[in-house]
Amino acid sequence: MKPPLLDILTPSSLAEALSLLSEHGDEARPLAGGQSLVPLLNFRMSRPAILIDLNQIADLAYIKDAGDYIAIGAMTRERSIEDSDLVRKEAPLLQEATTQIAHLPIRNRGTIGGSLANADPAAEYPAVVLALECELVVQSVRGERRIKAAAFFEDVLTTALEPDELLTEIIVPKAPSGSSSAFVEIARRHGDFALAGIAAQITFANSAPTDVRLAVCGAGTTASRLTAAEEIIQRDGVGPEAIKAASEAAASAVDPMSDLHASADYRRRLTGVMIGQAVEKAAQRAGVIS
Ligand SMILES: Cc1cc2nc3c(=O)[nH]c(=O)nc-3n(C[C@H](O)[C@H](O)[C@H](O)COP(=O)(O)OP(=O)(O)OC[C@H]3O[C@@H](n4cnc5c(N)ncnc54)[C@H](O)[C@@H]3O)c2cc1C
Repeated sequence: MKPPLLDILTPSSLAEALSLLSEHGDEARPLAGGQSLVPLLNFRMSRPAILIDLNQIADLAYIKDAGDYIAIGAMTRERSIEDSDLVRKEAPLLQEATTQIAHLPIRNRGTIGGSLANADPAAEYPAVVLALECELVVQSVRGERRIKAAAFFEDVLTTALEPDELLTEIIVPKAPSGSSSAFVEIARRHGDFALAGIAAQITFANSAPTDVRLAVCGAGTTASRLTAAEEIIQRDGVGPEAIKAASEAAASAVDPMSDLHASADYRRRLTGVMIGQAVEKAAQRAGVIS
């Protein structure tokens, strides 16, 4: 199918894009990589009158070392994040998760801002920004605000963004020393959206976990932190008994949906199994278990 007739506006600066968004309100949608929006247009599931194409705004695509955090512009392509030495060194969870998004041609176009603003429950980035406790910078003609990742995802394909706001930057805290991470997921075929996935970011001191962050995607209406499982690992360590208890806690905490790809029960079991895999992998990488 082809999209309905619409106008495409191509601002060359952020200020111009914000002004257009303010002027056209609900009638307009920002266009980033188009990897989610264009299929929705083609299926007529989204019918904006106007697209505001962000692809000419060079200032929105960057990965910068900002001291204790990495600043990533919303229009940064997923492929640039995958290839970034800075991201690999300072936020390895983000780099590992990026390699599991779709296929290379999609990552060449798709952007981190588009993925987060799209808020697909099965997407990797929402789980990553929750586990890394990122902040999301959003701007409109009314000004700028910073939203903690935990407050950004509200429902399926729904975020805290107002219609006149653009996501402009993602603030990614650098992984602390002594920390380790793992992103594991299960998809029916390589490159498909995950049936479920786990982002694990764990800090160890003297082989004991001191800060445990576990987030899940694909097992609810939004990505979410698995706090009961986090508390068990932080309190009881990464031995087999603790991992088993954390897996059970995670499985009972999620409320997945059934669809043609997998039942809710299967996704719940996957969540438990993958908590074990992710925690073990992170602990192995830290040299805490062999
Ligand atoms: C075959 C296929 C497989 C895929 N598999 C995966 C997968 O496994 N995992 C995964 O995470 N994703 C997957 N994707 C989606 C892909 O990662 C998309 O690139 C991503 O979800 C959207 O990014 P985009 O830049 O293309 O955004 P677009 O499609 O351009 O936009 C998506 C939405 O976000 C809005 N938007 C975009 N940028 C902004 C902004 N800066 N501020 C406010 N709103 C904005 C748009 O208006 C639109 O509503 C897949 C896509 C395809 C086609």
